[in-house]
Amino acid sequence: MNSKLLHISTIGCQMNVYDANQIAGVLAPMGYCGTDDIASADMVIVNTCTIREKAEQKAFSFLGRLAKLKAANPAMIVAVGGCVAQQEGKAILKRMPHVDLVFGTHAIFRLPEMVRRIEASRCRIVDVRLSDTIEFDGPVAGPLADGQVSAFVTIMRGCDNFCTYCVVPHVRGREASRHPDRILDEIRMRVDQGIREVTLLGQNVNSYGNKEGLCRFYELLERVNGIDGLSRIRFTTSHPKDLSRELIDAFGRLEKLCHHMHLPVQSGDDGILKRMNRRYTRDSYLDKIERLRTTCPDIAITSDFIVGFPGETDRQFQATLDLIEKVRYDGLFAFMYSDRPSAPATAFSGKIDESVKKERLQALLDLQTGITREKHQTLVGQIREVLVEGTSRSLDTDGLASVDHTIQWTGRTSSNHIVHFAVPDDQATGKELLTGAFANIMIERAHAHSLWGRLVQGPMGATPEKGEKPIAA
Ligand code: SAM
Ligand code: SF4
Repeated sequence: MNSKLLHISTIGCQMNVYDANQIAGVLAPMGYCGTDDIASADMVIVNTCTIREKAEQKAFSFLGRLAKLKAANPAMIVAVGGCVAQQEGKAILKRMPHVDLVFGTHAIFRLPEMVRRIEASRCRIVDVRLSDTIEFDGPVAGPLADGQVSAFVTIMRGCDNFCTYCVVPHVRGREASRHPDRILDEIRMRVDQGIREVTLLGQNVNSYGNKEGLCRFYELLERVNGIDGLSRIRFTTSHPKDLSRELIDAFGRLEKLCHHMHLPVQSGDDGILKRMNRRYTRDSYLDKIERLRTTCPDIAITSDFIVGFPGETDRQFQATLDLIEKVRYDGLFAFMYSDRPSAPATAFSGKIDESVKKERLQALLDLQTGITREKHQTLVGQIREVLVEGTSRSLDTDGLASVDHTIQWTGRTSSNHIVHFAVPDDQATGKELLTGAFANIMIERAHAHSLWGRLVQGPMGATPEKGEKPIAA
């Protein structure tokens, strides 16, 4: 079989990163292997996101730039996948004559057949069919990057929550969960390939399996916790309304479950939460945060916020700032509200000026930066175990990293803090020595966006796990 070059460009969330890997996996048997060089690719796939208007614009401007490449290389197949493809369908073919294929979020497993047809007859195809059930349940594992220690595994797709600002239920379809046995097969396959950490993905993992009568999410976690060779489990995203007592308890008893919960609240005001259709209140949210911290005192909590939702008053925005001060998050993502074509809030009155949204976003980020800085500072002098992910590109000008003859590494703590540390290169001379190992790091310096430390001992853990590599100390 002739080898062909495939370039996949991914915009958006972890789901899209996972999907890109699946796309590479389903096309590999046809001879497609990955390239970073777009100009030389036989096929370019743009894996798009439409969660906010900016992401959609980014997809179209990238696609626009591909027209030139296609003109220079007419044999190139240009395909558009992901949420913009699902939303726009055949309108993309009309708007962009250089696009050959538009495939929606449920069409990944039909790709080989479609690509074969295009290769044979240069036809143009649109497939944006959505189904309520998962027709193909894998596992298909695409290639891992060199030294990759962590992988995403999707456990469910779609969403039934219909938050009024959100396009996801419209472009990813109804919620459907994968069978636990298939999920476990895929994780075991990744572990055999060398990964140490898995992040389970879903729009609302807390409702995993409910619809299909499969196991509950905490029971799935128990099974994943039992996989030999896997060291860490993460998951995202949890909807606060469905965060159960049992899941909170799991943080106290599953040793592989990382001490981090991403619990998007979106707003600190009950009126806004109601109009967002979030179906929890500020108080019930705060109550769950308290229970999480009682069960797992060192748990890191992060969140998503939307500022400038239609009708949001200054007072309501202040309630959001007040919530941030109360919770003292370890980190957050904040977005200016953006109208999406199929989301109900697009028709809501009381749209907020862009300039006000920008001010609110800045105020919120400034507040959180101060909190993060203070929280980082409390880690100085403490030893944290990190899973080493590879060498680091960040530079610390006042630390060891600026000294010659050191290699600078990056790892992540259980609570998802990124820690950089430097090791003299006579102790760790090659990437292969540290990547994938656990290391004890003494945190020595804390900045607003990073932590820096020193290797104090390794490797970690009484029993070396499958694939664990020794490290210098
Ligand atoms: N399912 C997750 C949840 O319920 O939190 C999040 C899904 S979404 C991919 C990620 C984040 O994008 C949301 O938490 C929200 O903060 C933000 N978002 C979604 N729609 C938005 C919109 N129309 N404008 C601005 N931000 C939006
Ligand atoms: Fe969107 Fe809400 Fe579903 Fe999250 S829970 S994907 S924000 S509709």
